[in-house]
Amino acid sequence: MATDPFAVAKEYFYRYAAPLELEKRYPRRDILEHLTTPDRSIEFRLTFQRDDDSNCVCQAYRVQFNDDRGPYKGGIRFHPVVDLAETKALAFWMYLKTAVVEIPFGGAKGGVAVDYQSLSLPEKERLTKRYAVVLLNDIGSQKDIPAPDVNTSEREMGWILDVWRMIHGLYDRAVVTGKPISIGGSQGRREATGRGVVITVAEAAKELGLRLDQASAAVQGFGNVGSVAASLLQQCGVQVRAVSDVGGGVMNEKGLDIPRLVEHVKSGQGVSSFPGGQAISREAVLSAKVDILVPAALEHAIMAENAPAIQATLIAEGANGPVGPDAMDILNEKGVTIIPDILCNAGGVTVSYFEWVQNRQEFYWPLERVNAELEQVMLRAYHAVSDLARREKVTLREAAYRIAITRVAEAAARRGVQ
Ligand code: NAD
Repeated sequence: MATDPFAVAKEYFYRYAAPLELEKRYPRRDILEHLTTPDRSIEFRLTFQRDDDSNCVCQAYRVQFNDDRGPYKGGIRFHPVVDLAETKALAFWMYLKTAVVEIPFGGAKGGVAVDYQSLSLPEKERLTKRYAVVLLNDIGSQKDIPAPDVNTSEREMGWILDVWRMIHGLYDRAVVTGKPISIGGSQGRREATGRGVVITVAEAAKELGLRLDQASAAVQGFGNVGSVAASLLQQCGVQVRAVSDVGGGVMNEKGLDIPRLVEHVKSGQGVSSFPGGQAISREAVLSAKVDILVPAALEHAIMAENAPAIQATLIAEGANGPVGPDAMDILNEKGVTIIPDILCNAGGVTVSYFEWVQNRQEFYWPLERVNAELEQVMLRAYHAVSDLARREKVTLREAAYRIAITRVAEAAARRGVQ
């Protein structure tokens, strides 16, 4: 098994695409190569000025993987381990994700290899704006629409919109999604990914006969996705017993008080210093004795080494690619149900689509409408995947891949072969 994240992503794609016999269905084009090769990978040196007047040089990326079903769409990640292979894998999953939830976008991803959290606020703004300036001719509301990912948020999207407006002289709000509401963001976008995670957990729990008001959960990562998922799980009656962030974990057998933990983290502290629980290691959160585990940090959190210790019977992939390749087989053999990332965390890109629609119409929806439409999309996608999985006796991941691959292959074929 390959270790490069993009090579791993491709191996899974080939495995799940095999029964679809795409080459027989679409004989006039090399469909498998088309679906596994990025349309374009942009890699560039990004230099920005530090507060002490020195220059900082970083590697930056934007991968536009596939636009057969609509403009490229995908987040921007600022993190030290960002590289081209990871960005390609994330862009690859993005176009499969937009296909699973049937929204009219393709897939892209971008990032900068930088210790973003250590930068001052002016340095963060200079870096983000520099990134946007370099990519100015490659993004656009009909071309490629960035959004937040790890270490980026509404704030960074506002800065990118500002660059676009200054240089193009156009107030085209739909060039980015996940913006602040005051400049065209959508109600409910910030919470959308975590909300989508919990909608799929509730459906899977019904199918497994697990009552949420008697269930317990652990959440890895307490950023945008993890903190919202934890809050909403608790609102559904789930006892959230363990939570981690990059600095450590916290546990309370009787359930953590999530609103208080959110306030604690907002004040700039890590979860492990929360007085309402005992500090534990990050690793211990993954193997906590709970029914539901939500990995919502980074890729490959669960690998062959720690998979045997997992006690949860339901894993909801809030993060992209949190279950590594060898771990998947171990967990499948243990009978653990995994709601795959390309379905589970698709709520964010779904509400990004709603934001794009609202920007293009300049007509804004109330929160109730956003949440109701999100629920409809997530339920439709979940049940399409779960019905196929049951019918074909395959995992939810394989069913989600089959649905996504079929939709994109069909769109690619309809565009002709010349
Ligand atoms: P974020 O930057 O808001 O939060 C990341 C969290 O993970 C932080 O709490 C950080 O401390 C924690 N973390 C990092 N390394 C960790 C480790 N080793 N152990 C425990 N915690 C760790 O990022 P986010 O937007 O919440 O994204 C999290 C994941 O969800 C990523 O995989 C991202 O691609 C995926 N995702 C995000 C969105 C979105 O809308 N933001 C949408 C779909 C998927």
